[in-house]
Amino acid sequence: MECQSILIKNTIIIGSEIKKSSILIENNLISKIDDDLSSNDADEVINGEGKVLIPGLINTHTHLSMSLMRGLADDMPLDTWLNNYIWPAEANLSGEHCYAGALLACAEMIKSGTTTFNDMYFFIDDVAKAVDESGMRGMLSHGMIDLGDEEKRKKEFKESIRIINKCHNTSDGRIKVSLGPHAPYTCSMELLQWVRRKADELGVRIHIHVSETEFEVEQIIDSYGARPFEYLDEIDFLGDDVLAAHGVWLSDSEMDIIRDKKVKISHNPISNMKLASGVSPVSKMISKGINVSLGTDGAASNNNLDLLEEMKTAALLQKIYNLDSTLLSAQHVFEMATINGAKALGIEKELGTIEVDKKADLTLLNFNKTHLTPYRHPLSHLVYSAQGSDVDTVICNGQILMQHRKLLTLDEQEVIQQAEEASKDLLS
Ligand SMILES: [Zn+2]
Repeated sequence: MECQSILIKNTIIIGSEIKKSSILIENNLISKIDDDLSSNDADEVINGEGKVLIPGLINTHTHLSMSLMRGLADDMPLDTWLNNYIWPAEANLSGEHCYAGALLACAEMIKSGTTTFNDMYFFIDDVAKAVDESGMRGMLSHGMIDLGDEEKRKKEFKESIRIINKCHNTSDGRIKVSLGPHAPYTCSMELLQWVRRKADELGVRIHIHVSETEFEVEQIIDSYGARPFEYLDEIDFLGDDVLAAHGVWLSDSEMDIIRDKKVKISHNPISNMKLASGVSPVSKMISKGINVSLGTDGAASNNNLDLLEEMKTAALLQKIYNLDSTLLSAQHVFEMATINGAKALGIEKELGTIEVDKKADLTLLNFNKTHLTPYRHPLSHLVYSAQGSDVDTVICNGQILMQHRKLLTLDEQEVIQQAEEASKDLLS
């Protein structure tokens, strides 16, 4: 449902200040924020009374199509989880599976207020098709793994370039493509150095997993005589266009490297807790001035894609781990899920805050709920009390994707049905 202009009237706007006002969207941009906007000014009017408007949430690390593996294997060690369940399932993956899984993930993310995500997986053409249909904004990457095998490496290079040529900057600019070397322990030095060169040459970003588990850090020390971020720095891989997911096991000097090279970290607390990977030193990184954003990781290790839940967990985890309840305030954690996410993807000039002339990616939450009463500080309620199901309306790039919890770009029942069938087929 495409409108030339949308007016959201009389709502609490979490912008540079928190205030009740009205907001006008024209085409894909926020054009006015003003108390006096009249209903005559817009094609579509949304009543914002009793609601709170935030920037569309930004999930900076996920694997959409893994939604098909939700609940497949819980409560087991990471290596058993990967070797006995996830990798065998992934060996059967087809483009149709990835399409169905990505559609399911998009529907789930829209329903919990996310408008932008950063994905790494396989069959990216099919993922892009789902993202295009959903109306969401996504940065996609083909996950590259060579395990030192030259033939495999060449195939990964070819596929990454093919996907960039085919999908980068498509769907009115909503879909972008980055390079996705899986991790330093699954990718050879040759692969990583090629990625660095290509990223510079093509002007695309880099998405990688680094230091999720203590075991992989030991592997890198054994192979290269340095910790992962030291090694990546030595081979000149790092830069402000690199987004590293997890960053759980970090030394102080690695954090200094991350800060100096302006590497962006995506913190995935629920996945890290569920797989018992460890606790990322997020508060320390923030105090050093490192940009830390939030990700859910795939639904196979979370087991949902709800960033509201992720915000609360991120705050609580830092508090309990450091036995300091003042750490990671509601304000901080909200920034992680919005503006820091935009910075992590290099789109902070266009997204991540509610400001005139920024892209109209907005999430409207219904605060007329028992668990959000009495109305007090909206940021506190958002982080500590709200749930994904409180999201009422979602707009991305000036298009309404969900209104009063009804998806407008996707047929929710059809998406669920398709995902059920794809999951059965994948695991048969
Ligand atoms: Zn991941």
